[in-house]
Amino acid sequence: MSITPLMPVYPRCGVRPVRGEHCHLIDEDGTRYLDFASGIAVNLLGHSHEGLIGAIQKQAATLMHVSNLYGSPQGEKLAQELVDKTFADTVFFTNSGAEAVETAIKTARAYHQHQGDTTRYELITFANAFHGRTMATISASNQEKMHHGFSPLLAGFKYAEFDNLESAKALMGPHTAGFLVEPIQGEGGIRPASDEFMQGLRKLADENDLMLVLDEVQCGVARTGTLYAYEQYGIEPDILATAKGIGGGFPLGACLATEKAARGMTFGTHGSTYGGNPLAMAAGSAVMEAVANDEFLASVRDKGERLRSRLEQFIGNYPELFELVRGKGLMLGLKMKVESRPFFVHLRDNHQLLTVAAGDNTLRVLPPLVVGDAEIDEFFEKLSAGAASYEVPES
Ligand SMILES: *Cc1c(COP(=O)(O)O)cnc(C)c1O
Repeated sequence: MSITPLMPVYPRCGVRPVRGEHCHLIDEDGTRYLDFASGIAVNLLGHSHEGLIGAIQKQAATLMHVSNLYGSPQGEKLAQELVDKTFADTVFFTNSGAEAVETAIKTARAYHQHQGDTTRYELITFANAFHGRTMATISASNQEKMHHGFSPLLAGFKYAEFDNLESAKALMGPHTAGFLVEPIQGEGGIRPASDEFMQGLRKLADENDLMLVLDEVQCGVARTGTLYAYEQYGIEPDILATAKGIGGGFPLGACLATEKAARGMTFGTHGSTYGGNPLAMAAGSAVMEAVANDEFLASVRDKGERLRSRLEQFIGNYPELFELVRGKGLMLGLKMKVESRPFFVHLRDNHQLLTVAAGDNTLRVLPPLVVGDAEIDEFFEKLSAGAASYEVPES
């Protein structure tokens, strides 16, 4: 037998973390890594946050799971907090980002079909999007590498050019139910949509009674310096998917919606055994308590600006390697002039610096939001040493 016990769908590297301390990961043989990947924008409170650990420990010892057939004081508390701090009137909890996007897709379709309009089922999505790995969420992306071997795809998605309003407009028709978009593409290469684009989609949705669905699974939960990224675009969505950071490392996602958008989501239309269980709610509430306040959000914006300006200065020293810095808050990307993946491997293996490679030859810089000046200094030491010692591989 040659297949590994862990289904070999990930090209796993030699770093084998067994412990986390704030912004560092320590692997099996004791090597310390600076973690500017955060489990891909998940561990926003770092790896040993006392409040989060305490909340999970306490809840685990009290009540871990009950069925959604019972009332949920824990769920009501977190849902109320999200309702108070966002555009939303109602929340459905999931265990992952893909499930949150699935719920969002179902909500958008049901908005039309609940009224008896079965012709509007199509969502316009955008090139190089990433929405997850379920059948619906791979069908929502135009990336063929995620489709291969899994046909037939789910019907009902059309792909427009990202950040191109005319392209979205051109795909609108009698079957259009809405738009599904990441305000800042994550896997696609930390590419922020323009204000004009997001405001244009909002306007098209308003004029045509369509759902504007945002996938904020990666850019949401304080990552960009506001609780959700849409706040910076001067618009509100009808439906929003959130996950990754919201559990701070505990599996948790949610689909947020306005009352109007959720009109099709009535008794019996949707469900999840684990979704919103008391343990996940305790984790989510601890994260919200830490991040959903002006002081914390201002600190993310402040650190984001400092990190960004230092990155801009830094790339000036290596014009042959780096093209530009983009992103918002502490969701930053270095677009490279050479392939980003081998450089990311070099930083990891030779300089013990963890970042994430992304599309469009971009290196993702996603530190825990609790990152301090000392870790930012350490990051630049490692990055500078990494750039100075880098030999671009022959391709
Ligand atoms: C990670 C991600 C998802 C999928 O989340 P999972 O928890 O892996 O299912 C969906 N959308 C975006 C934008 C993501 O970054």
